[in-house]
Amino acid sequence: MKRRNTPSICAIAKRGLIAGLCASLALPAVPVAAWAQPVGLPSMGTASASELSPMLERSLGQAIMAQGRRDPTYVDDSELSQYLTTMGRKLASYSPGAVPDVEMFGVRDPEINAFAMPGGYIGVNTGLIVAADSESELAAVLAHEIGHVVQRHIARGMTQQNQNGMVMLASLAGALLAALAGGGGNLAMGVAAFGQAAAINRQLGFSRDAEREADRAGLQMLTKAGYDPGGMAQMFARLMNASRLNEGAGGGSWASTHPLSIDRMSDVQNRIRSLPPRQHLDSDDFWYLRAKMRVVQGRDALSLRSAEQQLRDEARALSGVRRSAACYGLALQAYTRNNLDEAEREWKQATADGQNSPQLAKLSVDIALARKDTARALELSQAAVRRWPDRRALGMAYATALQAVGRHADAQAYLREKIKQWGADEPALYQMLAQSEERTGKPVQARRDLAQFYVQTGAYAAAESQLQQARGMSNDFYEQSQIDVEIKEVKDKLAEERQLLERFKSG
Ligand SMILES: [Zn+2]
Repeated sequence: MKRRNTPSICAIAKRGLIAGLCASLALPAVPVAAWAQPVGLPSMGTASASELSPMLERSLGQAIMAQGRRDPTYVDDSELSQYLTTMGRKLASYSPGAVPDVEMFGVRDPEINAFAMPGGYIGVNTGLIVAADSESELAAVLAHEIGHVVQRHIARGMTQQNQNGMVMLASLAGALLAALAGGGGNLAMGVAAFGQAAAINRQLGFSRDAEREADRAGLQMLTKAGYDPGGMAQMFARLMNASRLNEGAGGGSWASTHPLSIDRMSDVQNRIRSLPPRQHLDSDDFWYLRAKMRVVQGRDALSLRSAEQQLRDEARALSGVRRSAACYGLALQAYTRNNLDEAEREWKQATADGQNSPQLAKLSVDIALARKDTARALELSQAAVRRWPDRRALGMAYATALQAVGRHADAQAYLREKIKQWGADEPALYQMLAQSEERTGKPVQARRDLAQFYVQTGAYAAAESQLQQARGMSNDFYEQSQIDVEIKEVKDKLAEERQLLERFKSG
């Protein structure tokens, strides 16, 4: 077997993959040679660089994400992930070097933080989105994170030794293995996945040089992508204040993994001064999603009340899109409390001065569905899809409305078309397709498509179980042999993942 000739994964972990986990970085999906070696930091040996396989890192990231998606703090929100990922990929497209495809997702946590995991997955806390006072401030933190990726700080972390981080990585691998053994359905393990990834993150901070490099690369991307470079200084000032106010909590969270200093601040400020001033017009999406995250991150009665108060203040004091977004937040909060009359009243307020947005359109469909007015939901979602054809959340709302009125054949045709377009970024489409197939007497195909959903989200054990069921139900010899091939592929992936985690565990 080829693997025997390569160094063991635990040896690689000792030297550095762990830094990837800790140091909030993703690995390149491109040959190592394509990456520029920045100056000012110890360079890694060519041998260690060639040992670090992007595929290994991607697999590790997928294993963490497979559990993370079940974490109650994971924000399973298509509107948010499409917004963040679009922003992240736009920034990355202006990077000074090659970057892997980034995938961004929200984490329900009021702490101001963002973290990247192996394989290009970057988590963004709702607290960061809510704290940002402009889209450029949010983009600045994302650009900084991508800056670490571009500068290959993870690979250079291979020269570092960190015993505590090693122990934590082994423990995370152990938790992921236990989850695998349990069929991947253990919710508590999901909590462990993100919690431990964040803890490992805290164990290793980046060096001052690494931070400065990430700032510079980030600032470049921020500016080229058309954002206001001043957003970076504003965000840093906000983070410094927050960490001063509550040591070790709140704003201290991001600052503890990306140490902020006066030096770093003035370096950024000097660079911004040398740039031509630039006005960035914040997208409407930013304001609507920021209002949404205020509601989403409320976990108890107290925080929900304070979110409501803030939204009410904004709705009174502001105008235009910002007033509309605050009213949208209030409508959403009423909707989540199942107070549909109030939700509708606030929704009307949000659109009172002619404002509209994909988020408002989606909420109107959700309210109609909650009222069981399926014909209205279909009409609204159809109009919304026509107006905003690139919004995945609206596409899914339309498919949901088709299902609600019982048009399952149409829903399947529509979902198959959308899977071609968005399948890689929106695994939930397979899940919806399986529901409609089940309703139209295609139980075998339903299980195969549900298996696809699990494969896309890295839950290979669950995928195998669906395929085994499909195999048992099928009477068609040709179909059976197709399913056998699918089962073998999933089993191979599961075995690879188990092997990978075993080696990290014994690190
Ligand atoms: Zn940093």
